[in-house]
Amino acid sequence: MTDTFTVVNPATARPLTEVPATTLAQTDAAIERAAAAFPAWRAVSPGDRASLLRRIAAVVDAHVDELAELEVRNAGHTWGNARWEAGNVRDCLNYYAGAPERLFGRQIPVPGGTDLTFHEPLGVVGVIVPWNFPMPIAGWGFAPALAAGNTVVLKPAELTPLTALRLAELALEAGIPEGVLTVLPGQGAVVGERFVTHPLVRKVCFTGSTAVGKQVMAGCAEQVKRVTLELGGKSANIVFADADLAAAAAAAPAAVFDNAGQDCCARSRILVERSAYDEFLALLEPAVRALRVLDPEDETSEMGPLISARQQRRVQGYVEGARVAFTGTAPEGAGFWVPPTVVTCDDPGETIWREEVFGPVVAVMPFDDEADAVALANDTDYGLSGSIYTGDVGRALRVARAVEAGNLSVNSHASVRYWTPFGGYKQSGLGRELGPDAPMAFTEEKNVFIAH
Ligand code: NAD
Repeated sequence: MTDTFTVVNPATARPLTEVPATTLAQTDAAIERAAAAFPAWRAVSPGDRASLLRRIAAVVDAHVDELAELEVRNAGHTWGNARWEAGNVRDCLNYYAGAPERLFGRQIPVPGGTDLTFHEPLGVVGVIVPWNFPMPIAGWGFAPALAAGNTVVLKPAELTPLTALRLAELALEAGIPEGVLTVLPGQGAVVGERFVTHPLVRKVCFTGSTAVGKQVMAGCAEQVKRVTLELGGKSANIVFADADLAAAAAAAPAAVFDNAGQDCCARSRILVERSAYDEFLALLEPAVRALRVLDPEDETSEMGPLISARQQRRVQGYVEGARVAFTGTAPEGAGFWVPPTVVTCDDPGETIWREEVFGPVVAVMPFDDEADAVALANDTDYGLSGSIYTGDVGRALRVARAVEAGNLSVNSHASVRYWTPFGGYKQSGLGRELGPDAPMAFTEEKNVFIAH
């Protein structure tokens, strides 16, 4: 009999369903099936592979509401977010459906012959997904990997396997061959770790905590396995006094409390120029109090619960030691709720200023000038994203160039667009996902010289 694990609705703490826990032997068998499916999949003509990806996108599009409902129940996401997330999988599939027919090599002028390059698929790619954005992060891995001619084994997080399992069924329904995309729910230490150690898996795409990411990277080194890491963050939202302060304050809650702060791009540190500090906080307070924190079954909910009791305790632990300026509201009773919380800091050594909370908590600190803002923003091991609010376009560009982070927005807090590269500096990651070059990261560049 196969072991199972229980999947819970985080808004109510009630069990939703049981999901099989893939064993080591089943993982090996799935990897072998994916390797067996690879030669036929890479041989599918580019136009046919493109059509198939578009068919999967169309089937996903027809099931956006169903997928969104699964995520509302399983991950506590708001309806608006969950629909966007399902739509993002469709959009990534459509975008990367353009890739098979455009995986161009080069013809490089050399003496004595002709030189050609090819982008060859790697083989089996293992994608390891965290619980915070189960659908998009799965799609950012499997869509470009499949487009480049690889087969994929994918492990969703233990807490949130339902949408990935459904996406795999929908892909089969759309006509993807057996073994080309396999979803294996189960434990990180069993299934995820096997992706790292199994020699037939030629690349691992890992998104999750920096601690586990380091283990994955070290494990991949054993076989010089290709690896992409998308890890944690402690991103800064830098607000200059010359900014539209009302707009900056209105945007700041969503920049950190979206998905209850369980977002690697969360702007969890707000840096405000000292002369605007009091005014900014006065504008921020009503915006935080107005946030509708409700069971996401309610379509008007703007923020749901945390994913688990463990995450709730962890976040509450951070708040206990901090200076709380004000909070929003949260439902009482069952479910893993924490209200949106704003704390003030004056010492960059404070734990709440340094560590990734991964919950609805933001720390605010004043700064004196541009150089001070950049130094504070960069005083972290992370470097994933960040925002700069200013009315001075020269300053916006200077600061954007100076902040050590992969994804910055000026007068905006949006980080993720499937058209543009996404990834981290420093300990926030290695490599980039999304954007026009993503399929290249799932290929080897081969050079062929033909002597005349
Ligand atoms: P986690 O590292 O515990 O787990 C992530 C995934 O790795 C899960 O599927 C888990 O089962 C698997 N895993 C666990 N141990 C493993 C092992 N030894 N070998 C292989 N796989 C293993 O992280 P989490 O708690 O799921 O997610 C929260 C963290 O992820 C936060 O720190 C957050 O910042 C980070 N994150 C980063 C991004 C990004 O794009 N940069 C996106 C989402 C989450």
